[in-house]
Amino acid sequence: MSSVKKYKCLHCGAGLEFSPSDQSWKCHYCYSDFSIEEVENAYDEDELPDEDQPELDSYSCNSCGAELIADDTISATFCLYCKNPTIIKNRFSGRFKPQLVIPFNLTKEDAQKIYTKWIKKRIFAPKEFKSKDEVDKITGVYVPYWLFDCEIEGMIEGVGTKVRTWVTGDLVYTETSYYNVLRDGSCRYNLLPIDGSKKLDDSIMEKIEPFDYKKMEKFSLPYMSGFMAEKYDVDSDEASISMKKRVQKFHEDRLKGTVKGYNSFKVKTSDARFNEIDEQYAMLPIYLLVNKHKGKDHVFVLNGQTGKVVGDTPIDHLRQFLFFGAVTLGSLLITLFGGALIG
Ligand SMILES: [Zn+2]
Ligand SMILES: [Zn+2]
Repeated sequence: MSSVKKYKCLHCGAGLEFSPSDQSWKCHYCYSDFSIEEVENAYDEDELPDEDQPELDSYSCNSCGAELIADDTISATFCLYCKNPTIIKNRFSGRFKPQLVIPFNLTKEDAQKIYTKWIKKRIFAPKEFKSKDEVDKITGVYVPYWLFDCEIEGMIEGVGTKVRTWVTGDLVYTETSYYNVLRDGSCRYNLLPIDGSKKLDDSIMEKIEPFDYKKMEKFSLPYMSGFMAEKYDVDSDEASISMKKRVQKFHEDRLKGTVKGYNSFKVKTSDARFNEIDEQYAMLPIYLLVNKHKGKDHVFVLNGQTGKVVGDTPIDHLRQFLFFGAVTLGSLLITLFGGALIG
């Protein structure tokens, strides 16, 4: 088994890439396109090995032979020299064998359009964020995700108050009654996503949710062709800690939501127990653009399935100053002009 994989067009031998607009594999050279069955059959897609495969010192492109530049976690990429899509098969094996994939639904051109529209509205963003070179850098990346199923049994206990006020003569009476309030309930949560990449900030990744899991497919290597992909560097145990925090908070809020009819309610103790936890390893699609500005990274992330966007840009203070300067000058002119008319 070769450690590096490339899917070639069955007609002309050029590199094949997954095309989100037709959900098939396209050759950009002779314009043929192929279904998943055709690609899998042609490549007699052997099951990815269940055992971890050794990391090699280096991987080379099997189109041009050049050494691939790929850091530890990159598992699908492009050859820097011949630009062919290449997949490091070892990094999709054993522990790193994904079970599921959500294929890209948006093309790179779609992503560029969405970014251009988004950045246009950010009038104080530095100019270079809007340049064509910058827009071209948007990359489709498959992010390693853990999808958790779990059952939680939660309990909250706290104090609720009811306040009654009345007036007798000159006196205002207030009576506060205290109640001990207890709520418990269990619930199942399915397909809760936690990203398995240290490079990506969890709070950013949460904002591009939800993904539509109805479009999820059984993982197959050809889906990776034409995109970057990462393997996880946060294992399922570590990810389950974040998952539990998220579920517990959510469940607690749901229990709190059932406490009604009090003037105030304060939680004193909260407890939760997880019964079953199952996880599946999945590759989910995003478009990513990292802008560097004055030594700080600014990230733009787009859900590659739904188009939901999250990002931040720095404020260019000079642009802001010039803008407010122009607005002030504009209103000054209006005042003067208006004044002149009245006079
Ligand atoms: Zn072809
Ligand atoms: Zn190459």
